[in-house]
Amino acid sequence: VDLARQRLAGSGKSEVILSRLLLQKIAEKLEQKEQIILLQNRRGFSTTVQCAHCGEVSMCPNCNISLSYHRQGNTMRCHYCNFAQKVPDKCSACNKVSMIHRGVGTQQVQEFLQTQFKNARIVRMDQDTTRRKYAHDKILTDFGDQKYDILLGTQMIAKGLDFEKVTLVGVISADTGLFLPDFRATERTFQLLTQVAGRAGRKNGQGEVVVQTMVPQHPCVQFSRTHDYFRFVKLEMAERRALEYPPAGRLVLLHFIDENENRALQAARKFAFLLTEKKVPFKIVGPAPAALSKLKNMYRFHLVVKSDKRLDPGAQNVRKTIKSCLQEFTGDGSELSRVTIKIDIDPVMIL
Ligand SMILES: [Zn+2]
Ligand SMILES: [Zn+2]
Repeated sequence: VDLARQRLAGSGKSEVILSRLLLQKIAEKLEQKEQIILLQNRRGFSTTVQCAHCGEVSMCPNCNISLSYHRQGNTMRCHYCNFAQKVPDKCSACNKVSMIHRGVGTQQVQEFLQTQFKNARIVRMDQDTTRRKYAHDKILTDFGDQKYDILLGTQMIAKGLDFEKVTLVGVISADTGLFLPDFRATERTFQLLTQVAGRAGRKNGQGEVVVQTMVPQHPCVQFSRTHDYFRFVKLEMAERRALEYPPAGRLVLLHFIDENENRALQAARKFAFLLTEKKVPFKIVGPAPAALSKLKNMYRFHLVVKSDKRLDPGAQNVRKTIKSCLQEFTGDGSELSRVTIKIDIDPVMIL
């Protein structure tokens, strides 16, 4: 479903959570006593800025990841390379004045659903509702026993579920995952969408899948529709190669964590300087505040080191260099040397 067009059609509310098509399908399935799974992709850690008119998302010109919104100074910032710009008044693609900040959690979706379907039995599965031991299993068992009509959850419900009575799977916003500020965002979303498509009504083939997005033309959305794995990989690899992202290049992520914001930043800067001094063929990106820039009262900055796999296939060179920088860094006994450094080679996610 093209949410951008739905919005233009005048839906009253500025933020469309569920399209008319999806609402109608849900009503149908409830009527027929069939079950529904609704997926709200991982809640955005950070907020992206998206045009409500055409779906355009502001991306970093250097890193090809979405820029994160910062209320302070009304700016958008790249958390790989620290590129920053003001939130534009007008969309750069369509020139309309309709920039919105996105980020809807599962709880909000549940509340909205309950107002729409007063008698529906809705169960929510996310980090908040599965904190207790076995809570996860209980929700799934109860849903399997048809104690609920609608299972609403994050992507933790996408894997390995096989419910006979589920005939509708809805993805509330493919964009949440698609524009997560991480270079693997498209790959993950593609996996999720193809997985979900295989989920609905496996047994009888009567299942339907509704994917809501504001960018229906995005290759990730298009290729997942047709399960075109090969064309997706080909396109994705070309983009990764251009920016030396894995698997084309190797990535090392260095975290600098401290209770003092400036100290964490200075440490990251100093480390970047030590690395450049080694005159090795690495690209050093940053330092920049991490997407989760403050966690448990600790400030987090990171440096991204990109190295060419052809020159350093086993990563010995990059490991050795970082290790020697680390020794220099911690060895001088200065105030900065006490900043916590974490090293992540080929990180699964950069947040
Ligand atoms: Zn636009
Ligand atoms: Zn960047």
